[in-house]
Amino acid sequence: VTELRQDPTTNEWVIIAHARSKRPYDFSKDREIKSTPAFVEDCSLCPGNENMTPPEVAVYRQESGTSPWLIRVVPNLFPALSPSAETGERLVDSHFKAKGGFGFHEVIIETPHHNQTLPKMGTSHVELVLQAYRDRYKALSKETGIRAVLIFKNHGVTAGTSLSHPHSQIIAAPIVSTHDKKKLEIAKEHYSGTGRCLYCDINSWELENRNRLVFETDRFAVFHPYASHYPFETWISPKKHEPCFGNANSEDLSDLAEVLPKTLRRMDSVLGEPDFNYVFHTAPVDDEGREFLHWYIQLIPRIWTAAGFEIGTGIYINTSVPEETAKYMKEA
Ligand SMILES: [Zn+2]
Ligand SMILES: [Zn+2]
Repeated sequence: VTELRQDPTTNEWVIIAHARSKRPYDFSKDREIKSTPAFVEDCSLCPGNENMTPPEVAVYRQESGTSPWLIRVVPNLFPALSPSAETGERLVDSHFKAKGGFGFHEVIIETPHHNQTLPKMGTSHVELVLQAYRDRYKALSKETGIRAVLIFKNHGVTAGTSLSHPHSQIIAAPIVSTHDKKKLEIAKEHYSGTGRCLYCDINSWELENRNRLVFETDRFAVFHPYASHYPFETWISPKKHEPCFGNANSEDLSDLAEVLPKTLRRMDSVLGEPDFNYVFHTAPVDDEGREFLHWYIQLIPRIWTAAGFEIGTGIYINTSVPEETAKYMKEA
């Protein structure tokens, strides 16, 4: 039996293909877990190779001064957007619209240890990584001309990175995507109809129903969304209403420093350490104060491939059922 489910945040429909539903074993088989050394001589992100990256824009150390670094933030050597690019818009061949590739693209080197991934770091170090995210969000969102700041992590080759040293990225762009504008409109509509934030509502629906809930803490709800586009898609959503990740306070970050690695550990144990992406959805820079927006983290293990139907229609076929995958993660 298959079913169409509508994502309340985008109005997009997803095909949940019950009949093709797989057990976690089917997702994780054939994946070999390699052991990685703590230091790799020619890794551009390992200590001692600091001259292989552009000079750092921020650094976090055990103590101030010259003590060894714990986290470095550097401009991406091959940036998608660059602060030195033009900002103006122009026409190409008198028909096509173009803009200079202005913006910022930074790499957050999460640890000096080549093999210390987030689920294996101590909580206090994860907290420092999250503080670095928030500091860079604040700095980049204040830059003139920046409209959207996205913090994300690509882990593994199928997730889009060839660098195995633990790192995250942040891109500050001069535009808000059409997709984000659509989500903003939908959230605004929900707010004007009900007087409530859509994402706060989704949190309370999930916490009430509980069959897609993985776990909760005082400050966060971790669940598999009703219309998950991908198998094991997981949301980490703050229970307290807040549109902008940049406004998360230190209590939020210290709770999240437990919640994020715990979620990753559960995913790793059910799926056998898959490649994954996570992204911090947050309000566009000019809409940080909007009462109808709400920041959250979307985690997607890369155990699926978009095929012809997805490319042709934008409609995803999810071969697993969120109620079942949430149960596996809950019991892990
Ligand atoms: Zn390294
Ligand atoms: Zn909210």
